[in-house]
Amino acid sequence: MRNDVSHILFSEEDIANRIMVLGDAITRDYADKADDGIVLVTVLRGGAIFMADLARAIRLPVEIDFMAVSSYGSGMKSSGVVRILKDLSSSIEGKHVIVVEDIIDSGLTLSYLLKNLSARNPASIEVAALLRKKTESQSDVRSIYTGFECPDEFIVGYGLDYQERYRNLPYIAVLSSEHNE
Ligand code: 5GP
Ligand code: MG
Ligand code: MG
Repeated sequence: MRNDVSHILFSEEDIANRIMVLGDAITRDYADKADDGIVLVTVLRGGAIFMADLARAIRLPVEIDFMAVSSYGSGMKSSGVVRILKDLSSSIEGKHVIVVEDIIDSGLTLSYLLKNLSARNPASIEVAALLRKKTESQSDVRSIYTGFECPDEFIVGYGLDYQERYRNLPYIAVLSSEHNE
């Protein structure tokens, strides 16, 4: 599997260290909000592995819930038209929501999700994104808890797939170019 990868951007250790910092920040920022309920809304499937580690780095009680969305688009680019494939299991009304995403590329998926979730009257809503791509044309989505900035290349590992493979790589890497056309 390593041969499919062009180079590693963030090692297992880099990821673990960064998630500790994010977990500490969330613990501090949400300490007085825990009574209302904090929900980590994970965007399947890419966000699942990040959420599992992030949740354990937060030293407050949190609920976890999942959404699955599909963006209509061709190939590896997002179109911004999003369909909900699986909705949350519980209401988020009055709760503090942290949307857990794998990567912000165009930002269109997240913009849609934030609009959709905000309409359900949560007490607050913020974003934790493992990665944020440095691209020219990113819609203006705010991610307070961002793991890493990454180059505008196709990223796999630690939850992120290419055709459903590579999600279980423990590091974050750029897919080698023969897979990336
Ligand atoms: P958007 O362009 O709407 O910000 O990104 C939508 C989704 O496309 C992301 O949440 C992620 O699941 C997927 N995506 C975007 N860029 C990449 C990438 O470089 N690698 C992988 N594996 N998925 C990506
Ligand atoms: Mg995603
Ligand atoms: Mg994918």
